[in-house]
Amino acid sequence: MSAYKIEVDLDQCQAHGMCVATAPGLFGMRPDDSKAMPLADVVSGPEAEEAGLAAEGCPELAITLRPLGD
Ligand code: SF4
Repeated sequence: MSAYKIEVDLDQCQAHGMCVATAPGLFGMRPDDSKAMPLADVVSGPEAEEAGLAAEGCPELAITLRPLGD
């Protein structure tokens, strides 16, 4: 099963919170600047699909799912 590392580009992130609304189990907001932070480092299966939806829905394209080797 493919696994992915969730990365958030904090320079791109504008703290809209869409990712948290889409995938509340996978993204939270940093308390200091309200930018997004991944709550899971590595995801696969349904979690990877949910993280993919959050990445597609991010208005700033700040979320990357980096494939990890099997
Ligand atoms: S949806 Fe994108 S821009 Fe908005 S908080 Fe999440 S990562 Fe940041």
